[in-house]
Amino acid sequence: MFDVLVVGAGSAGSVIAARASENPDCQVLLVEAGPDYPDLSKTPFDLTNGHNNSYRAHDWGLDYEPVPGRQVAFPRGRVTGGSSAVNTTIALRGMPEDYDEWAEQGNPEWRWENVLPAFQRLERDLDFGSEPYHGDSGPISIRRYPRNQLLPQHAAFLESAQGLGYPLCEDANEPWGWGAGPHPLNKLGRLRISCAVGYLSPARVRDNLEIRPDTFVRRLVIEVGRCVGVEVEDAQGKVAEIRARLVVLSAGAIMSPAILMRSGIGPRRQLENLGIDVQADTPGVGANLSDHPALAVVCQARDASLIDFDQPLMQTILRYTAEGSDKRNDLQIEQLSFAGRPERPAAFAIASVLEYQHGRGELRLASADPHRPPVIDNRFCEDERDVARLVRCLKDTLAFTDSGPLADLIEAVTFPDPARGKDEDALAGLCRRFAGSGYHPCGTAKMGPTDDPLAVVDQFGCAHGVDQLVVADASIMPGVPRANTNLTCIMVGEMVGEWLRTGPGRYGL
Ligand SMILES: Cc1cc2nc3c(=O)[nH]c(=O)nc-3n(C[C@H](O)[C@H](O)[C@H](O)COP(=O)(O)OP(=O)(O)OC[C@H]3O[C@@H](n4cnc5c(N)ncnc54)[C@H](O)[C@@H]3O)c2cc1C
Repeated sequence: MFDVLVVGAGSAGSVIAARASENPDCQVLLVEAGPDYPDLSKTPFDLTNGHNNSYRAHDWGLDYEPVPGRQVAFPRGRVTGGSSAVNTTIALRGMPEDYDEWAEQGNPEWRWENVLPAFQRLERDLDFGSEPYHGDSGPISIRRYPRNQLLPQHAAFLESAQGLGYPLCEDANEPWGWGAGPHPLNKLGRLRISCAVGYLSPARVRDNLEIRPDTFVRRLVIEVGRCVGVEVEDAQGKVAEIRARLVVLSAGAIMSPAILMRSGIGPRRQLENLGIDVQADTPGVGANLSDHPALAVVCQARDASLIDFDQPLMQTILRYTAEGSDKRNDLQIEQLSFAGRPERPAAFAIASVLEYQHGRGELRLASADPHRPPVIDNRFCEDERDVARLVRCLKDTLAFTDSGPLADLIEAVTFPDPARGKDEDALAGLCRRFAGSGYHPCGTAKMGPTDDPLAVVDQFGCAHGVDQLVVADASIMPGVPRANTNLTCIMVGEMVGEWLRTGPGRYGL
């Protein structure tokens, strides 16, 4: 019998297991479907290589539908470290207003002044650690490329941004800042500092923490309204039950709602149609899917030698506010060092990303079979406010290709096709057809008070309607923050982990 059983060793789950096991009297089990690599020297290159994403070797092989009728691969990490172990290492915080918005929706514990200490605790900022809003001794090292290490396309991007009137911003995590500058990245040299590296490596020596990899959670075990453990399947297909006093579900914004639904927690009609016994009729499970719709302007490089797939993919970023918008920094433009494939004409890309999304998608179970992936409908650009601002962002991105230092590096823009025009309607049509995910799904088991019809958990992560069950990962966020989501997921892990460590009574422990 474990005290705390954490499902999923990702950005949030690793942190919760590490923080909860700081209490030597708390027996913690961390269960992960993917493999575990305790020894960094024997960890596969795709996981240590922070220069680029790992898309296939440690992935769930999911698909999603960004807009109706288009199926696209949807990467999610399947390994200790979760998606933090396969991602681009962009280490951005959301806007303070994002967390204040969560608080205003009935979750006062998450206001900016409360989450700031968690952001500080998680990081070791090697450039700005002495600033009052940063941390300098946390498990996740963060740094920025100095100017003399920028690739030509990134140096040109910053110069062009200045030419276009954007201010320079040396620290994109300065809470009130905006403009163009170096990306904060959680890597040291080339090494990706995932949550497996930053949090699990030092914690795994503890006697009271067991990490069980290659263990797939089929469903939660619920007895008379109380979660008492999980049903797991090992790599040989053997099914067993593991019991715990508290289960923390941290399987991410796609798999956490899927596990909840398979366990009978979700929208009644959907569950009954699949022959699943309803334990709690919770309409918000799988609803409220929030993400960052994005498009990339693809540019053929004038000098092919500029493009090297072995270089860092990301180095620079522009955070800014759409004209007339009341949501600060609701747009992002990111320079990508390379695009396409090495055998294709040498190209780089500039991504246009909508950071504050009004629209919502949904996720549904296709079957009660735990091995059938859920259906993911993002429904991007159905909300006209989203279309208008993504079009604005695309226009602003295209301005980088018209003239200036970055334009000088471009032979031709290959997407969007210049022959099709750049007027509002043409660009809106492109957004509606081609917007894709920034790989930042959130909100599918959102937190909120019981009078919020879509709330699945309370502000401490405790499930409404089922005892001894906590959900803590990207799925509990009421909406996607205005930043790439890894740091916010780690912050969620820090908040819940700290509550577990310092106030176990709240969780019935
Ligand atoms: C390719 C890619 C690039 C990205 N780039 C960035 C970036 O540069 N910066 C940024 O901020 N964000 C980035 N993100 C997003 C960010 O990494 C995620 O938002 C964040 O890691 C999600 O954290 P999480 O804890 O919610 O879920 P995850 O980290 O995905 O963790 C979920 C864990 O649960 C496990 N799991 C799931 N189902 C089961 C089951 N049934 N049984 C057992 N275990 C299970 C999974 O294997 C996984 O380890 C990227 C994501 C991807 C996929």
